[in-house]
Amino acid sequence: MDFSLTEEHLMIRDAARDFAQTELLPGVIERDNAQKFPDSLVRKMGELGFLGIMVDPKYGGSGMDAISYVLIMEELSKIDASASVMVSVNNSLVCYGLEAYASEDQKQKYLTKLATGENIGAFCLSEPEAGSDATSQRTTAIDKGDYYLINGTKNWITNGGRADVYLVIAQTDKHKGSHGINAFIVEKGTPGFDIGPKEDKLGIRGSDTHTLQF
Ligand SMILES: Cc1cc2nc3c(=O)[nH]c(=O)nc-3n(C[C@H](O)[C@H](O)[C@H](O)COP(=O)(O)OP(=O)(O)OC[C@H]3O[C@@H](n4cnc5c(N)ncnc54)[C@H](O)[C@@H]3O)c2cc1C
Repeated sequence: MDFSLTEEHLMIRDAARDFAQTELLPGVIERDNAQKFPDSLVRKMGELGFLGIMVDPKYGGSGMDAISYVLIMEELSKIDASASVMVSVNNSLVCYGLEAYASEDQKQKYLTKLATGENIGAFCLSEPEAGSDATSQRTTAIDKGDYYLINGTKNWITNGGRADVYLVIAQTDKHKGSHGINAFIVEKGTPGFDIGPKEDKLGIRGSDTHTLQF
């Protein structure tokens, strides 16, 4: 088996390395101390195509392969784990979920902006009692006819304060157990959706982690 990188992979890795060294390295300690990650850096990562790495170009993504995704993540993570966790969540938890499972209308409305970094996404699964065992999550979504009523608390949500679009995991049918769990697209500003204060943590402190209430 040949594990060597292609010319294209090397170019992508070098571009990510160059960005990490020249743009992320200056100020990384200050950002960690201040627990902040500036929008200007998010915009630059969007311009480089890092926020929709594997998304089809027809939805505004970069159309790269999984190896390219890993190479970019490695280079960002070496310098600033706060940048890489934000990129990872937007790409693999939000864009991937939408590209694989959303309707065409939802892709046009949400994915096209998330893949370019115009919008940022958050993925809301973990709860106080549901981490590794995600299926024990207790958030419910009740069908009210023309809308769903979501009730629950989500913890440790990356991009929780700054996101525009939230993929929220909730139980629609308790009798079906883990098969009764669905994903909902919730926009920031939806009535009854509250963003709690930023959570303090050891490390990766520049990343924006919040408790959310529905
Ligand atoms: C920086 C950061 C960002 C995060 N961002 C998000 C996010 O954006 N969205 C989101 O939904 N969640 C997010 N999370 C939450 C994350 O997904 C959970 O922390 C993770 O699923 C683990 O859950 P837990 O912390 O409750 O640990 P636990 O599930 O309680 O696990 C604690 C330890 O027990 C071990 N363990 C658990 N179950 C078993 C078992 N059955 N057998 C043997 N060992 C076991 C685990 O391996 C681990 O070492 C984030 C967490 C962090 C730290």
